[in-house]
Amino acid sequence: MPLNPSILSLPPSYLFSEIAKRAKEKQNSGQKLLPLGIGDVTAALLPPIAKAMSECASSMQEEIIGYQSESGTSLLKERVAQFVSSPKTTICPSWIHIQDGAKPIFARLLSIFGRKTRFASFTPAYPAFYDAAFSILEEPSYTHLPPCLDTALKQLEESPPEVVILCSPNNPTGEVFSKDFLQRLVTLANRKNFLILHDAAYRFFLEISPQKGDLPASLYELEGADSVVIEIGSLSKSHGFTGLRLGWAIIPPDLKWPSLASSLTRLFASTFNGACCIAQAGALAALDPVNREEAKKIALTYLKRANLLARHFEQKGWVIESSPFTPFVWMRPGKESLKKDSWELFDLLLERYAIISTPGVGFGPQGEGYLRLSGFAKQGDVDLAIERVQDVL
Ligand code: PLP
Repeated sequence: MPLNPSILSLPPSYLFSEIAKRAKEKQNSGQKLLPLGIGDVTAALLPPIAKAMSECASSMQEEIIGYQSESGTSLLKERVAQFVSSPKTTICPSWIHIQDGAKPIFARLLSIFGRKTRFASFTPAYPAFYDAAFSILEEPSYTHLPPCLDTALKQLEESPPEVVILCSPNNPTGEVFSKDFLQRLVTLANRKNFLILHDAAYRFFLEISPQKGDLPASLYELEGADSVVIEIGSLSKSHGFTGLRLGWAIIPPDLKWPSLASSLTRLFASTFNGACCIAQAGALAALDPVNREEAKKIALTYLKRANLLARHFEQKGWVIESSPFTPFVWMRPGKESLKKDSWELFDLLLERYAIISTPGVGFGPQGEGYLRLSGFAKQGDVDLAIERVQDVL
């Protein structure tokens, strides 16, 4: 059976599968394991979301809901368009393609590209970007851009890729790119003909932050973005949909590659049969402006937990490098003598405190020597972690 040769070049298991395997080995040690690794939500679903879904499910006892549009109901597209529009940018409902979450959308999008597509990504980055490119395309090339943004822009100017992958606020660092940098990037993409794929899965955490200022939540706020940017959104982290599955792609009709937008619509129709109708009913309730304040409270709780962990580990000698716009803590040991590789640091936290973290190197080579902790954890687990970690590293 001829397999896609590039998938064989990936490590045998996905980052979070490897973490789960190592944590399982530790499970019988008697100490409660504290899951601060994977960024999965823990807060209860908001009642109006649960109610809308249960009503949708019950209604099917009277009248079945069958196949629907592969890009979502008109009503939900309108509501998503309102949610992602702002005084600085208007997104049309017809640009919205509702699907089952950011990760599968990203993978489906990639399958439109040629087998040797050249990608460039800001790193450290969500590992699924790299893994999807190598799982789906036969001979992709993938460049990790340098952390200095001026150098990255210079590199993109001199050796332009075909697709730049961007995530702002970034996972794992929480970095949010400035308006000035993003405008330069969009202008360069127009001039050098590359597409920008922006994963905006953490956008809500930036929008609700009192420190947001004029940082762009969407790339469409920038001049010329409609012709070079596809943006992906998700309700996973902002509204507790990691298990329910609901996300969207924003595909402007005026992308500068003549048949790209229509080919993507065609691709989605061939590969997807619509997001679950119950999840869509829940999403309608989630995005009803009357429920925004409650969703905001939950998101602020996650940010607060990340901040609690960050301040505690800082006191214990760790250097914190994450921004205030992320529910994650991105950190490394402060002392030169303690510098270990990421998996050694992961084992250290697991062995000494039974804390499950995420090794930074899983987010790309620039994450080596770092760990990520998740503020999505339950308050009790965050408190216990703080109680257990008492030695100064
Ligand atoms: N994009 C980023 C940057 C993520 O960190 C994650 C999950 O951790 C996802 C996408 C997954 O989103 P979804 O649950 O909508 O597939």
